Amino acid sequence: MSHLLPPHFALSFDTMARGWCPGLTRPMASGDGLLARIHPPLGTLTPQQALVLSEAAHQEGNGLIDITSHGNLQIRGVRAATHAALLARLAPLGLDDAGLRAPYRATVLSPLAGLDEAELMNGRILAEQVETMARAVLLPPKFLITIETGGLFALDHLRPDLRLMATAPDRAQLVLAGAPPLACAPMKAEQLLSALPHLLHMLSALLEETGARRVRRLTGNARRAVLVQAGLGTAGLETAPLRHTPASERGESPAARPRRAPRAGIIVLKNGRCALLAAPPFGQMSARALEGVARLAEDLGLDEIRLSPLRGLVLAGLGVQQLPRAQARLAALGLILRADDSRLRILTCAGAPACARAHCNSHALASQLAAHLPSGPSDDAEIHLSACLKGCARREALALTLVAMGEDFAVIPDGGPLDAPLMRLPFAQIVHRLSTLPAGHTLRAAF
Ligand code: SF4
Repeated sequence: MSHLLPPHFALSFDTMARGWCPGLTRPMASGDGLLARIHPPLGTLTPQQALVLSEAAHQEGNGLIDITSHGNLQIRGVRAATHAALLARLAPLGLDDAGLRAPYRATVLSPLAGLDEAELMNGRILAEQVETMARAVLLPPKFLITIETGGLFALDHLRPDLRLMATAPDRAQLVLAGAPPLACAPMKAEQLLSALPHLLHMLSALLEETGARRVRRLTGNARRAVLVQAGLGTAGLETAPLRHTPASERGESPAARPRRAPRAGIIVLKNGRCALLAAPPFGQMSARALEGVARLAEDLGLDEIRLSPLRGLVLAGLGVQQLPRAQARLAALGLILRADDSRLRILTCAGAPACARAHCNSHALASQLAAHLPSGPSDDAEIHLSACLKGCARREALALTLVAMGEDFAVIPDGGPLDAPLMRLPFAQIVHRLSTLPAGHTLRAAF
């Protein structure tokens, strides 16, 4: 495909493998044309921005839009001939990345940041500060900092280089990725933030010097030295992986607060208003669906649409009386609104025809499989259906991973795409085995 493209963005999968990331100015060649990734600051769009984006996807792309696991948007099917028009349409929106270098957005945060009553500190304010610091240094394109301030949305499906974690309303700690992770002891948030620019600067130099593109590739000694030199190690270092204390373990009723946010449904916010979580099936929606969401947000008087790193949309600040109308309009756009929708149990990649490497149309097969699965809890996907061995949607293990291999699928219970398969089966047989699995059995029991 790359021979069809102007040289400045004719980038191949080999280039991608070396850590390159697509943007708006430099889109990526894919099976269905160019893929232009937009990085809305803090994962937030105004309704007006969403309207222009939907029109851009319709006119300059093939009408399909992805929400990524970092809460960014991808316009698919852009053509070399329409790329300039896409840039011209989006530049006035402040979503242009011309003149910027990747990572275009270094932080990922909860889509309820600033609104979640269980949040320990305001994640949006924190993320804005960290973005400013990250832009001041040269970081590898995939460098990622998760802003984990508590509340319903865990970000533990991501593989960040740094985790900035609130541990109390005024205290936080940093965790450097690696095996094992390295953490500084919790300290005053201001103290940590004042040390962060120096830490980022040293990590930038170290990554450049070693040729490593991710912090987890650095040695334990190197990571420890950087923390200590940044003045973050003096309070003591811990080496255990850290997780948030769930709200239920902070003395709140487990019944009152689920351990993780649902990916679809309604959440009551700290101001008493509601957030409506809507998920496009398998993270992809039509341009017309985004337009419909934007018009709904305008009609509801909302000034923002939030993008979730769980590949969904969040409309926050609704009154209870506004919910039925909003739900009806979102459902008519094809968005998932029920947390127990079985499509939320399946994670899948772009697949064919969007990806040239794909051995199957992963979205069509995932829909087919979901139709035969009983509905169930959806706070985490259980099945990964990958259209090739690369496993873009997820590298880590899930309860069941299915990898398209020519005519058949590799079946990998309790594993990831690169683990040894238990067997290979035609897709129809996999669907049959899962659909006839007695209630209460694990997915492994089907194979
Ligand atoms: S995992 Fe899916 S999206 Fe990734 S390269 Fe393979 S087919 Fe393409």
